[in-house]
Amino acid sequence: METLTSASGYSESSVSKNIKDTAVGKLKKCGHIFHQLCMLEMYNSGNKDGSLQCPSCKTIYGEKTGTQPKGKMDIFLIPQPLPGHQDCGTIHIVYTINPGVQGPEHPSPGKPYTARGFPRHCYLPDNSKGRLALELLKLAWARRLIFTIGISSTTGESDTVVWNEIHHKTERSSNVTGHGYPDPNYLDNVITELAAQGVSEECLNM
Ligand code: NAD
Ligand code: ZN
Repeated sequence: METLTSASGYSESSVSKNIKDTAVGKLKKCGHIFHQLCMLEMYNSGNKDGSLQCPSCKTIYGEKTGTQPKGKMDIFLIPQPLPGHQDCGTIHIVYTINPGVQGPEHPSPGKPYTARGFPRHCYLPDNSKGRLALELLKLAWARRLIFTIGISSTTGESDTVVWNEIHHKTERSSNVTGHGYPDPNYLDNVITELAAQGVSEECLNM
């Protein structure tokens, strides 16, 4: 948070001897400027996957991956429609994650984590936009972006598996939690949330 005309706040603590504490760099796509030592610190405090996200505007450089623990994603089709999508069947996603021990990329490496409410069941309409959302979710799963380990905002529990900024519909025929149907904006919203993690239609054609 230092001004760019003074030295980076990381000048004392940095591991790098080669970068001057006053050196600044400009991110190519969005044009935001930071101290080079600050960018290095930002990279090293993340999961060091070769990607960097601009802290000002969230533009992603490289391919962002997450820290989702191991598990499986299964997909089924249900002939019955969802409320609000009477003209098609339903895609049923089942996420299974078991409790385990945190890795170096997690908040408390070596400490156990809990996994509540698994398997978690999620639903999409089986129309063209729903099938696009499914393909994007599969890619987000492969990049470990669907869940993370942290503090559950619902239960307050720490060191537990939680949803990671990509909303899912976990109710099929009721909407008691607010995470159900009908929701006419859901597919557009989840596609936007996936794009914010770097997962978009262009990635599917690569
Ligand atoms: P959290 O409470 O930290 O919230 C993270 C995000 O998940 C938030 O954006 C929130 O809006 C969303 N979210 C909260 N409850 C949700 C739900 N029921 N369905 C879909 N999205 C939801 O996340 P968390 O701790 O992973 O999940 C919240 C709670 O919901 C947990 O207690 C979990 O056990 C429970 N849950 C249960 C089931 C089930 O099938 N029994 C499925 C999903 C979630
Ligand atoms: Zn930016």
